[in-house]
This record gives sequence, C-alpha cells and structure tokens, in this order.
Amino acid sequence: MESRTIQENLRRVETRIQAACDRAGRGREEVRLLLASKTVPPQNMRYTLDAGERLFGENKIQEALEKVAAFAHDPRPEWHFIGHLQTNKIKYVTRFARMVQSIDRLELAQKLNARLERNAQEPMDVLLQVNSSRESSKFGVAPENTLALAREVSRLPLLRVRGLMTIGLFSTDSAKTRPCFRMMRELRDSLLEAAIPNAKLETLSMGMSHDFEIAIEEGATLVRIGTAVFGNRALPDSYYWNES
Ligand SMILES: *Cc1c(COP(=O)(O)O)cnc(C)c1O
Repeated sequence: MESRTIQENLRRVETRIQAACDRAGRGREEVRLLLASKTVPPQNMRYTLDAGERLFGENKIQEALEKVAAFAHDPRPEWHFIGHLQTNKIKYVTRFARMVQSIDRLELAQKLNARLERNAQEPMDVLLQVNSSRESSKFGVAPENTLALAREVSRLPLLRVRGLMTIGLFSTDSAKTRPCFRMMRELRDSLLEAAIPNAKLETLSMGMSHDFEIAIEEGATLVRIGTAVFGNRALPDSYYWNES
C-alpha cells in the first residue's frame, strides 16, 4: 500500500478518535493509539512512524522478532506483545516487549517474572487479558477471576500490572459490544477499589477497527487498530486468536 493511503487512513482514524473523545467528554490525550501490525510489512509501518506513531502491537513471536530486527537501527518503535503467549516463547518476548498485554494465567506471569530475573532485566509492564465476551475461542481470564489473578501477578517483583486488555465481542452491533466494554471499565474500577499493592491499573486496552469508538466512549485508554490503517489482512483473525 502506498504511503499516501496509509497516512490518509491514519488521519481518518485520528479524526474518529477525536470525535469519540468529544462525545464522551474526554481529552484526546487520555487515549493512546497502538497500531496492530500483524502481517504488515515494515515499510508500511515506517509510513506511520513518519506520521508520528510510535506504538506497535504484534501477535506472533516469530513475526515480532523479524519486525524488531527490521527496525534495529530505528529507535522510534515501542513494541507491545498482544497475542497469545506460550510459555516456551517467553525467552523471546523479553528481548523486545515494553509491555505484554496478554497475561491470562498465573503460570505465564511467574515464568515471565523468572525470565526477567534470570536476565537481570528491569521490571516489565503487563496487562491482564480478560475474556469479556466469554467466547470459548478467545483467550483471557474470566471476569470473576480477574481480581484474584491481579493480586497474584502484582506480587511478582519484576512485573508491573498496569491494567486490563480485552478483545471484546466480534460484532458490528453496538448494542452487544457496548455492555462488554462497560463491564471492563467496571471491572477495572472494582480492581482499583481493591487497592492492590503495586498494581497501577490505569490502562484499559480495548477497541479495534470495528468498535474503537464505542470502546473510547466506554473508557478505553488504549485502542489497538490494524485494518482501519493498514487495510485488510489475508489471514482471518481466528488464525491469531485461536490455539494453533
Ligand atoms: C489484530 C488485532 C487487533 C486489531 O484488529 P483490527 O480489526 O485489524 O483493527 C487488535 N487487537 C488484537 C489482539 C489483534 O490481534
């Protein structure tokens, strides 16, 4: 895709984010834009860097390592891991990720913490991934188990719990997606009320190309957008979201 098309798409997304913030009475600076860059060639990602974007989210370790290598001499990108993380891939994620958004079980958190310790690395920011739609095809901790997981993960010295992430219901019907996002905000608020030591919980990562405006209206502080900026992908999302 041409740089013009991508930068135009980006401007259009930016306008929509601003409009959603206006509708919700929120400041634009309350919402960060992360570009979901799975399958996107580095050149197309560069166009968005040149337009001022910095945050990228990758879903697969192998692909992430290739992208990170492609930008080895470019200090601009900040990498987040947003895909399902298998424990045998933890040793790779610690090489590049500023944040892992997909912590959905204690074992994964413990192993990530142990790896950071072994590498003598700085603490890493993490989000807990919640299965807010309860679809069995999606990963994530059940909403009712999130508080317990947050307590356990925040005890790990090298992980900083910064909030929650969800993929949400895959539907274009806002009557269905909105309650899901609202539940996430309420869940985040109830976690805040629990005053868990060492947990910060300011981040609510939710909203994608088809539903980010609703997510912003319901309190998202970080939206993850791919298609609306980079165009359609060849592979279906189930390839990234199901156990493979
Ligand atoms: C692909 C992906 C997105 C972005 O999806 P789009 O519909 O392309 O905007 C967001 N979050 C996760 C976890 C993804 O895998």
